[in-house]
Amino acid sequence: MIPQTMRAARLDTDLEVRVAQLEVPPVGTGELLVRTRACGICSGDVMGWYMRQKAPLVFGHEPAGEVAAVGTAVEGFAPGDRVFVHHHAPCFACALCRRGEFVQCEAWRKGRLVPGGMAEYFVVPEVNVRGDTLRLPDHVPFTAATLIEPVACTVKSLRRAGLRGGERVAIIGLGIMGQLHVVLARHAGAGQIIGLDRVPFRLERARMLGADAVVDVDARDPAAAVQDLTEGALADVVIVGPGSIEAMEIGLALAGRGATVVLFTASRPDDRLSVAPYDLYFREIRLVPSYSCGPNDTRDALALVASGIVDAERLVTHQYPLAQVADAYRTAAAGTSLKTVVTFP
Ligand SMILES: [Zn+2]
Ligand SMILES: [Zn+2]
Repeated sequence: MIPQTMRAARLDTDLEVRVAQLEVPPVGTGELLVRTRACGICSGDVMGWYMRQKAPLVFGHEPAGEVAAVGTAVEGFAPGDRVFVHHHAPCFACALCRRGEFVQCEAWRKGRLVPGGMAEYFVVPEVNVRGDTLRLPDHVPFTAATLIEPVACTVKSLRRAGLRGGERVAIIGLGIMGQLHVVLARHAGAGQIIGLDRVPFRLERARMLGADAVVDVDARDPAAAVQDLTEGALADVVIVGPGSIEAMEIGLALAGRGATVVLFTASRPDDRLSVAPYDLYFREIRLVPSYSCGPNDTRDALALVASGIVDAERLVTHQYPLAQVADAYRTAAAGTSLKTVVTFP
């Protein structure tokens, strides 16, 4: 039985999270209603300037759950199916989709779950049902399935970085997204992985997950440290995790000849990065943004989670029930956790 009302976590303009009572949204003919079982809190969900533009809203875009109701025109899904749902899905028909530029597709940009992932139930729009709702293998727990979206963003980032194997990879910022880059770069055959951060437990975790060396950026100059660790060559691939200009400047300073520097997080709209085209040109350094992920990446990510290459036990450090979602949000915002996941009874 689907109830009339449900609890949902609303992020207000003061950036406080409150549990609200909302109507369970109606299901259209091409849509699914999903009963949420777990939802991750994303680094983006706690980026103050970004969320202030969006609030108030039911936040959360990393949900996994069970299909509760199926629109009359939906094929391929039935109540009880365990699913990962991506909050954005492309049309597959426009010129951008045909080029594989899925996140640039108009339909992708407009897509959203109703009212959001951090609710007991949410509606999956038709385009997401067709394009990016994946059935979970029985052995993949819902908590692990919340990692599919962040893993997919990492899959895309390393693809855009051109990682093929043997490269020296420097990863700036070792929150959950940096740790996932460590795991996947190792899996992809990187020759040397160097993690950079200033939080001791994150540096330790990166070592545990496969980094060859870590650099405490408060204790050492990052460029000098990476130069020492690479015998002067610097990195072939640099992942800039944080969206700050400072991190991007460090990223450029770590780039060796022919390197690719990936900008993994948005800066603020008015920020400006100054670069020396002379250096980019003669050293042939590529500056490559990587925004979110597409339906090709989520499929790869599900395989990585299902096979255990991405091990949720080592990445999900905090779990809270929905009633304590405000604490969960504060924990995620404080940066003392890796992945914080909210669970639903
Ligand atoms: Zn996310
Ligand atoms: Zn499209």
